[in-house]
Amino acid sequence: MKCFKCDSQAILRIKRHKATLCETHLVEHLQNQMIKAIKKFKMLPPNEKVIVAISGGKDSLALWDMLLDRGYKADAFYIDLGIDEYSKTSMEKAQSFAEKVSGNLYTISLPKLYNTGIKEISRNNPRSACSACGLIKRYIMNIFAKYGNYHAVATGHNLDDEASSLLGNTLRWQTGYLSRQSPSMPSNNGLAKKIKPLCRLAEKETAAYCITKNIDYILEECPMAQGASSFDYKEVLNNLELKSPGTKDQFYLDFLRTAQPYFKSNKQDITLVKCPTCGEPTSQDRDCSFCRQMKSNQLDPLKVKEEISGFFK
Ligand code: SF4
Ligand code: ZN
Ligand code: ZN
Repeated sequence: MKCFKCDSQAILRIKRHKATLCETHLVEHLQNQMIKAIKKFKMLPPNEKVIVAISGGKDSLALWDMLLDRGYKADAFYIDLGIDEYSKTSMEKAQSFAEKVSGNLYTISLPKLYNTGIKEISRNNPRSACSACGLIKRYIMNIFAKYGNYHAVATGHNLDDEASSLLGNTLRWQTGYLSRQSPSMPSNNGLAKKIKPLCRLAEKETAAYCITKNIDYILEECPMAQGASSFDYKEVLNNLELKSPGTKDQFYLDFLRTAQPYFKSNKQDITLVKCPTCGEPTSQDRDCSFCRQMKSNQLDPLKVKEEISGFFK
């Protein structure tokens, strides 16, 4: 199988783009897909600074690499959640990649700040560990954007992540989530702009990118993710994609083009006020969910802000 752009041996076929690509042209093609998303969804002006949330996994490392390769001013942060071996290995991958690309990586460690990890912190959360983890991550993202003066926070969500989340939200008609499901969420009253530049790339394409560029990433999923329904949705979509290449792409990108404006126009604006403890935006007239989560474990929520502001003094 030859590359459709040159005479070299192709290493990957992307059926939905009718493309067979050699190593060089695969890297170029995937980076072009990222640039296309950045432009189409007005994610990031070329001269603005961005911070990438990295987990040590393939998607976030590929994203950081692509942004740097294409000349963006991209720094990164990693959150050590204190999940046994998983956190240890993923942190090593994140740090060794940062060294390799001479990138600016900030690390926030829950065990160092609080002498505990996400499993313990989430014990009081009536929902799941992932729900507590999500709210802590979102809080940390906003604080980094604020103190580091970044235009946006970029995450490594890929097409499979976005399409499976869309399927889940649609099956339950979660109109609130559907109105917010965008690869580029503008900043709002102190909440940072959030962007997903890999939303046009499938999971196996970011994996192929990392292999081609010799990026060492953690293969294991977070152990807390076991049994998550997103895996079932991904399996359904993968089966459909096998039978009809392009299904995921159409499902997600056509949703953004056609259906999402409807949900957006029916969105109820939420008024944000300042959290009485940390001063960050919250929709409730009491402590924000992050402060409540930390206080319920007798942990000082202000430590996170102090630590992050210290990075930028
Ligand atoms: Fe956090 Fe859950 Fe993701 Fe693990 S799987 S990193 S606990 S959100
Ligand atoms: Zn080629
Ligand atoms: Zn707060």
